Amino acid sequence: MEHVVVVGAGLAGGRTVVELREQGYTGRITLIGAEEHPPYDRPPLSKAVLTGRTDSTHLPYGLHDLDSVELLLGRQATGLEPGVVHTDAGPVEYDGLVIASGSAPIRLPGAPAQRVLRTIDDSLALRETLRRGLRLVIVGAGWIGAEVATVAAKLGAEVTVVEGGGFPLAPLGAEVGGHAVHWYEEAGVTLRVDAMVDKIGEDGLLLVGGEFIPADEIVVGVGVRPDVAWLGGSLVLERGIVTDEHLLTTWASGVAGAQGAAPVVAVGDCAAWWSLRYGTRMHVEHWDSAQGAPAVAASTLLGLAAGQAVADLPAYNPVPYFWSEQFGRMVQFAGLPADDAHLVFRGDPAARRAPDAKKAPGWSAGWFAPDGALTALVTVARPIDMVAGRRLLAAAAHPDRAQFADPAVPLKSLLPDS
Ligand SMILES: Cc1cc2nc3c(=O)[nH]c(=O)nc-3n(C[C@H](O)[C@H](O)[C@H](O)COP(=O)(O)OP(=O)(O)OC[C@H]3O[C@@H](n4cnc5c(N)ncnc54)[C@H](O)[C@@H]3O)c2cc1C
Repeated sequence: MEHVVVVGAGLAGGRTVVELREQGYTGRITLIGAEEHPPYDRPPLSKAVLTGRTDSTHLPYGLHDLDSVELLLGRQATGLEPGVVHTDAGPVEYDGLVIASGSAPIRLPGAPAQRVLRTIDDSLALRETLRRGLRLVIVGAGWIGAEVATVAAKLGAEVTVVEGGGFPLAPLGAEVGGHAVHWYEEAGVTLRVDAMVDKIGEDGLLLVGGEFIPADEIVVGVGVRPDVAWLGGSLVLERGIVTDEHLLTTWASGVAGAQGAAPVVAVGDCAAWWSLRYGTRMHVEHWDSAQGAPAVAASTLLGLAAGQAVADLPAYNPVPYFWSEQFGRMVQFAGLPADDAHLVFRGDPAARRAPDAKKAPGWSAGWFAPDGALTALVTVARPIDMVAGRRLLAAAAHPDRAQFADPAVPLKSLLPDS
């Protein structure tokens, strides 16, 4: 393999470059990125960058990686065929391709005045507007919405969060998300649930039903979509680029990514990989996947180039994980809740923070399958539970529910080998 092309200079693209070099690849690498910036980290954009604690989140790559890479920044990949990526700077031939084009925020239709938060430029521009008394309306009480509300309220803005569903943190379900409502109250943020946006105007937004909420700034945080339109119909897509467990893609024409002379892998937010662990396709738009999958993608490309059989390639098979920092709480989640899972709380999710308390009260909750397996875990201001919890999930453990429910029992004592 003489030339690997990477499309997308975010975390997943940058990490794949590093992995290729660390795993011994000395050939040519071209990294194509639509943004003008070399790879940087996004989680601080709604945290340390927005508060003004830092201006830059560039990833710490060294001499042996990005310096030996041809960077095509500010360039868009516009199409794909076997062996060639088309870009707005002309065609680029490859004999190994990594697709890491990430995801793009969903915007509400017909609303020019809305802001989104995806790039460092978005974050710095939003930070400029945040001030005492600013009437900030945030659409969406998910991860980004809650983090922006946290920072803006701390800086003295008058924050209203408009949520179409009945509770915040929708992916975690009503039983967990309902317990986040009082976090908003505590921070002085107005939370409007079951409030659907009809229209965004220049000076506020109109809810379905006719109510108008005036705003100086509007931030839309209603989720992201994989940035894959540029692929046209070239690869098979299903909530992202379909890959096998080795992260190999499939041409829509039916040829598996491994079989051509020039294999194609996909990593990070844009990929939907086959999970051996869960026997289902997974699509995860979180940092841990963009950080972890590149090692497997690089091994897949290098293994194929060395003549390894596909069956002998390593598999990407993680327990999904993400975190969010909101309203003074570290919220962490890992696993995949079974459909018929039963939720067991550990600690009191309704406990309020005392007015003078430095720390929010911590609690966790686990999703137990009918056979007693722990399938997913959320921890709120209890990071120690997540450390042991991830090990319980990786081991597909069946911890005793009564002991799990007792916050005085360390979760690590429930590990099968303890
Ligand atoms: C504000 C914010 C806060 C976050 N906080 C957390 C957090 O606390 N915890 C957590 O787990 N996750 C968090 N995330 C999610 C996490 O950052 C993402 O999952 C991760 O960045 C995905 O990395 P990626 O490289 O796959 O995609 P991206 O970071 O989206 O990078 C893809 C890159 O590809 C470029 N690109 C797209 N199309 C093309 C094309 N056709 N040609 C060339 N380049 C292209 C894009 O411009 C982009 O630069 C956060 C995300 C944001 C935006």
